[in-house]
Amino acid sequence: MTASPTLPIVPKAAPKISFVSLGCPKALVDSERILTHLRAEGYELARRHDGADVVIVNTCGFLDSAKAESLSAIGEAMAENGRVIVTGCMGAQPEEIREKYPNLLAVTGPQAYESVVAAVHEAVPPAHDPFFDLVPPQGVKLTPRHYAYLKISEGCNNRCTFCIIPSLRGDLVSRPAGDVLREAEKLVKAGVKELLVVSQDTSAYGVDIRYATSPWQGREVRAKFYDLAAELGELGAWVRMHYVYPYPHVDEVIPLMAEGKILPYLDMPLQHASPSVLKRMRRPGNQEKQLERIRRWREVCPDLAIRSTFIVGFPGETEAEFEELLGWIREAKLERVGCFEYEPVGGAVANGLGDLVPPEVKAERKRRFMEAQQSVSARLQKARVGKRLPVIIDAVAGGVAKGRSKYDAPEIDGNVHVTSRRPLRVGDIVTVKIERADAYDLYGSAV
Ligand code: SF4
Repeated sequence: MTASPTLPIVPKAAPKISFVSLGCPKALVDSERILTHLRAEGYELARRHDGADVVIVNTCGFLDSAKAESLSAIGEAMAENGRVIVTGCMGAQPEEIREKYPNLLAVTGPQAYESVVAAVHEAVPPAHDPFFDLVPPQGVKLTPRHYAYLKISEGCNNRCTFCIIPSLRGDLVSRPAGDVLREAEKLVKAGVKELLVVSQDTSAYGVDIRYATSPWQGREVRAKFYDLAAELGELGAWVRMHYVYPYPHVDEVIPLMAEGKILPYLDMPLQHASPSVLKRMRRPGNQEKQLERIRRWREVCPDLAIRSTFIVGFPGETEAEFEELLGWIREAKLERVGCFEYEPVGGAVANGLGDLVPPEVKAERKRRFMEAQQSVSARLQKARVGKRLPVIIDAVAGGVAKGRSKYDAPEIDGNVHVTSRRPLRVGDIVTVKIERADAYDLYGSAV
């Protein structure tokens, strides 16, 4: 018998993954983690489903409309490719998905990174080539390079009656402060200029681990909202806080905003202003106290911009309760406001709490709400004309750049349209003289 010649190792092409990321910034962070892991193993990202070895759909199951969007994304992936793995919030209810698409390769729930990765391995094993192990230390980002979401915890200890997130994602699990800070530092070193802190309830950070300390740069840092904010503020990037609830200890963070350590911005989803509706929603809330709290925050940091979201047409919402909300919104003068019509999410306690408000009444209330807010916003926007504001550039096209001020988060708030004599690049932070304003956007020139 002759020895067989040594066969040359023919490098196998890297397996290709097509990825759809739906839902909120927290889901986006999950997507980034999955992709970072897979890229580290040598998988490549495909631009289209067609031709990919497998498609992953990270779904959102928060509202029925989000579920419908998720199901349609799965349908598209099945039609164009046929080898599909589903993960994310909707994956917590696999029967609903399997009923419609029985031939999926796998369905895994939220935060089940290992299961998604295992399902991918099974569908298409990783190629063994050390070259593919090269992955940027900050991981794979789905956001543009100059900003990044920083997830500080999973799950939620609250039980708002309209929300099924705790049943999908479980109770609050906070990351150690040192881990969060190391990730943030890597991102900043890789060129990220703006860190967007996200979680289900950012101000509750660390409650579950009793604010345990962890090492960071030779010191012990507590897993506490203030401590984390103060440390993030030292990294030299813009730091923007999302999903902060108006608990008393948030007061401590406002001076950091006044000192310019973190951005003077709070994304604070309040959902309603009528005490009786808030009670049915099981939200903490004495609105009088909240108005007082906001007033005090503005005394400490006059520059503070607050964004919030509200739900109209919650089960049993009366005209008088809605009027309370309108009055509150006129008085609170929040910079940015979103309004949603209540949607009866399957499994939410709220569905049984009162008569459902008819769709035409919900639509009418939303219209009146937005009208009330528009006059507030128009006044606030006008007050910015003539000011010089730092603006972070998000996009440049045909000599005009689009960016955001400190008062605007990406995707959800307004833009600043910037003209400039010198070329601007994405990620630049430039001073812009504001010349004009409309209800949402500002217009000006770089100085
Ligand atoms: S705070 Fe309320 S709305 Fe937000 S995730 Fe927790 S339970 Fe849901």
